[in-house]
Amino acid sequence: MTSMKVASTLDELRESRRSCASPFGLVPTMGALHAGHVALVRRARAECASVGASLFVNPAQFGSNEDLSNYPRTFQRDLELLGATGANVVYTPRAEEVYPPGFQTFVTVDEVSRPLEGASRPGHFRGVATIVAKLFLVFSPDRAYFGQKDAQQVAVIRRMVRDLGFPLTVVVVPTVRERDGLALSSRNAYLSPAERTAAPVLFRALSAAAEAFDRGERSGDWLRATMKSVLSREPLAEPVYVSAADPETLGELGEVAGDVLLSMAVRFGSTRLIDNFLFERGRWETGIREG
Ligand code: AMP
Repeated sequence: MTSMKVASTLDELRESRRSCASPFGLVPTMGALHAGHVALVRRARAECASVGASLFVNPAQFGSNEDLSNYPRTFQRDLELLGATGANVVYTPRAEEVYPPGFQTFVTVDEVSRPLEGASRPGHFRGVATIVAKLFLVFSPDRAYFGQKDAQQVAVIRRMVRDLGFPLTVVVVPTVRERDGLALSSRNAYLSPAERTAAPVLFRALSAAAEAFDRGERSGDWLRATMKSVLSREPLAEPVYVSAADPETLGELGEVAGDVLLSMAVRFGSTRLIDNFLFERGRWETGIREG
């Protein structure tokens, strides 16, 4: 186990960061860590000489009607997990330090932020891009690790990195899933037992569309209809959107000519889950099943 430094202020972080060997890998998180987050830290550990993580429930990416105050917080356990996985430094700032009084400077990634998650969560990606830009500035990572689980977040951050010229590589790590296919998420903790039983329907719907694609189906409408039809057979599942889109621009596809991102958001009671499969470079990225 490495001895991990916990920095709760910017000054402490700068101090700790100075003594970290290069290349430096960064894993931004909102805490409530699970095996998906651990996969990001492990990958960073394997590819970098030192690894930093952040634990910060970022108020700017939550809408006023969202779960900011109830978002699961397991701070001590998160620190233990990060230490055991080999992080060298963890930044755990207070919101007042990240957003000082009078704060009014935001990063907006226009078009990629608009559809899908952006349409149902206005302002979400402005909050994400702003915190990630701030973390890039304070950590100066050589590599930054994000989960495929949040595919639109990946598209937004890649666009921001290109547009603002951050000198770093974005690394995308496959989605870690439960044995029944449910993608690990801090929000799974909100599901009732019946909702938890129903939740793998996202994976089944994505699988059905991927199978249709593998049989030669290239109509975007057909792929979206295939996912909707599987979801409609699960009474507890209320679809928010289903999408078959260009993975980079996130524009919906009429005909799929090359790569495609199949994605969806589905409500179970008050809990909103997202998931996706990505077809890229001639193969599916569907994630890794645990357990
Ligand atoms: P969060 O704490 O939810 O903001 O997530 C922090 C990072 O972990 C993001 O890059 C997520 O995409 C990633 N992540 C969340 N869930 C998973 C998962 N099941 N598999 C892989 N990465 C994940």
